[in-house]
Amino acid sequence: MTPLYTQINSVGSSILVAENIDGGYIVPDRRLFIHAVDNVSFTLEGNEVLGIAGESGCGKSTLAKIVYGVIEPPLIVRRGRVLIDVGNRNLIDILSSDRETIRREIMWKTLSYIPQNSMNVLNPMKRIRDHFIETLKFHGIEVSKKDVVNYTREVFNSVGLPIDATNAYPHQLSGGMRQRVVIALALMLKPRVVLADEPTTAVDVVTQLGILSFLKEWQKETKCSMIVISHDMGVHAYMDNRIAIMYAGNIVEYGDAEKVFTDPLHPYTKLLIESLIKKGEKSIKKGILGSPPNLANPPPGCRFHPRCPYAMDICRKEEPLETRIGNNYRVKCWLYSNSRR
Ligand code: ATP
Ligand code: SF4
Ligand code: MG
Repeated sequence: MTPLYTQINSVGSSILVAENIDGGYIVPDRRLFIHAVDNVSFTLEGNEVLGIAGESGCGKSTLAKIVYGVIEPPLIVRRGRVLIDVGNRNLIDILSSDRETIRREIMWKTLSYIPQNSMNVLNPMKRIRDHFIETLKFHGIEVSKKDVVNYTREVFNSVGLPIDATNAYPHQLSGGMRQRVVIALALMLKPRVVLADEPTTAVDVVTQLGILSFLKEWQKETKCSMIVISHDMGVHAYMDNRIAIMYAGNIVEYGDAEKVFTDPLHPYTKLLIESLIKKGEKSIKKGILGSPPNLANPPPGCRFHPRCPYAMDICRKEEPLETRIGNNYRVKCWLYSNSRR
């Protein structure tokens, strides 16, 4: 029998390692391949928050689906692996595991996923409390209605949900309330890794802050690791220990979040950070001129060159190489490449 786990020592102490991921969507009738994730690698360490940032359409959610192993047509993965530590340094490659292994060994208890627009994932026929009971049952944990009420009371209060929401059907709650239910559900089994895709998009600013501070507290308390995906740099400034900036399917800058926010290197990162409203400022920020490219036919060379204020000749012709700067920091831009031709 093939062993379920592989002991792989090359990943150091990381809890999750994504290596050279390449994937996208096939649009057969138009004979297109939308190259949403292009050679993406990152690591997630224990007890840290890694942010994934970038404008709409740059591939963040596609990367999240691949990391969680939700690869359904038209999405395909052409290359890469996603190793996750399921305990005692036993690593599973999510991309080469079957659906049953992912469901049994990974979902909810090792890796929990809060998908974008998660308010739509609840079963409309079931009360909220039944979603909690069934998730526990699936993992062989029998609980009474009282235990579920106790758990939901604690968590619902922290995320600003009324306790009687446990008795409601999903359609009786607003989109923002349903999103918070999904967050509570995702954290129930205290997963080692939480993957949250735009966890606060459907809620107002006050609730947003409540949810983010709850997630931050939860992370500190349980010492889990989190991947937080958001187009909102304010969310990243608040949450992240490390950050990956995505542009048009690539990670263009990656490293310590404090360094990225105080001394960004990539021109795209600089513009993203400049577009953040700072405390005391009253003027409306302009944002970045232009829009991200069509990923079925991205521009040659550096994909950011049509919008980059520093674009040089080489940028229009050749894809930049990745430059490593110090420990675990990298940038993909010709301005920093030693081998600039
Ligand atoms: P947002 O911030 O708007 O959520 P994102 O960074 O999460 O954006 P993705 O949703 O990963 O971006 O989309 C990346 C690219 O893949 C986009 O060009 C998008 O149009 C395309 N795409 C996403 N889902 C599909 C699909 N089911 N079929 C075809 N193309 C898709
Ligand atoms: Fe700008 Fe060139 Fe760097 Fe791309 S490689 S971000 S175009 S300077
Ligand atoms: Mg998305």
